[in-house]
Amino acid sequence: MRNKYTVLLWLTFAGLAPGLVQAGEVPDADQALKELQKGNARFAKGKMLQLRRDQIRLEETAKGQHPFVTVLTCSDSRLPPEIVFDQGLGDVFTVRVAGNVADVDEIGTIEYGVGHLHTPLCVVLGHTACGAVTAVVKGAEVHGNIPALVDNIVPAVENARQQHPELSEDQLIPAAIEANVFQSISDLLTHSEEVRDLVKEGKLRVLGAVYDLQTGKVRWLGVHPGQAALLHGGAASHGEAAPAAAKSAEAEHAPEKAEPAKHAEPAAKHEEPVKKKAEPSRGGGH
Ligand SMILES: [Zn+2]
Repeated sequence: MRNKYTVLLWLTFAGLAPGLVQAGEVPDADQALKELQKGNARFAKGKMLQLRRDQIRLEETAKGQHPFVTVLTCSDSRLPPEIVFDQGLGDVFTVRVAGNVADVDEIGTIEYGVGHLHTPLCVVLGHTACGAVTAVVKGAEVHGNIPALVDNIVPAVENARQQHPELSEDQLIPAAIEANVFQSISDLLTHSEEVRDLVKEGKLRVLGAVYDLQTGKVRWLGVHPGQAALLHGGAASHGEAAPAAAKSAEAEHAPEKAEPAKHAEPAAKHEEPVKKKAEPSRGGGH
């Protein structure tokens, strides 16, 4: 009889060893987070296992997908989540958009990942030197459809500026990148009743993180510092930067950093999930 360890070892060699995504096993948010942390540590050390990228996994996932995490991150070519977290086919349900903004389409996609595919964890992953955030900080002139994209980032930058009036423009960029991660989480929680409900029911955790282009390491920011207010607040005006939200009861899960940007909209009336923004920022052009 094979014991559990032998089976795991065999699965590892077979390229199936998920560590957590064992057949029939549904990971929780802690396990999912641990898997990402271990994978990123491997990546940053240059010791990737590159599991679950073979023919066996291809055939297995063709029958259906059971990713364990939903990731919203930037389109920047330097941080494909499957690579920086050293994961395989079918592991990561990914939404990528410049500046990792959470607008209508992104929120809808996340709802599919967490609501339909039931990933227990959703990560909003920003990154150092993000061009989209930098453009907003520097007030760069943008054309075409880009203004409608970066308008989601504007409140984050304003918030970071308010929090750190002492910083120069260049110094402000890292703070704005972090604030923008929390802005996306705020937008997600504000405009998705489904996501709010899953978090309230303990079926989903939404975490912020920032990837460092230099080191390859992901720095975890924790849950939104104003999560409790956001969960019970409902929809406020999209992208509206509210004055600093009260530190919430989520403090124990709060970012290690002393001064995370605060974006929680003040508790407003509870509204139906917003399928469409009140003021669509995405132009109708194609
Ligand atoms: Zn970026």
